[in-house]
Amino acid sequence: MHFTTLFRHCPVCGAADFFTSDSLRSKRCAACGFVYYLNASAAVACFVRNENGGILLCRRAKDPARGSLDLPGGFVDPGETVEEALRRELKEEIGSDVVESRFLFSLPNQYEYSGLTVPTLDLFFDCRLASYESLKAADDVAECFFCNPTEIRLEDFGLPSIRKAVGFFLNEIELKKHPK
Ligand SMILES: [Zn+2]
Repeated sequence: MHFTTLFRHCPVCGAADFFTSDSLRSKRCAACGFVYYLNASAAVACFVRNENGGILLCRRAKDPARGSLDLPGGFVDPGETVEEALRRELKEEIGSDVVESRFLFSLPNQYEYSGLTVPTLDLFFDCRLASYESLKAADDVAECFFCNPTEIRLEDFGLPSIRKAVGFFLNEIELKKHPK
């Protein structure tokens, strides 16, 4: 649900006169003047390729889209840099150290959590790991494995922005193999 519908009362004074702005980006309380803006949460996702050209995929252990395929990554914590989030998430989820990362592109997305539609901005990176052996799925990842690009099916990815990003990335690999 959009926050303008879900947040009915002012969180500061509890008044019901909590009005939505014309842009649908903020709500203002007529009683105490408090203004709330909903901003996009930054998230990182990584493309990791092993020496055989396999792409690292993860299976989601938690909702939303539990059981579907995903890329390693997650939300950037407040006060954290994107690079720090990248290293932390890959350490947490697959137990590996990132030694090099290159920004690829970004995609806006929406994430349903606890009944609220959260806008996100997903930042995609090409990452090189310290080691590609004995990766260990943990945290919100049920399993992780390398998949040959030709065997990847986009419909197996549960989050729309991840599905779109994997499609872009596979096209990029294809273009490199067969330059126009
Ligand atoms: Zn108020």
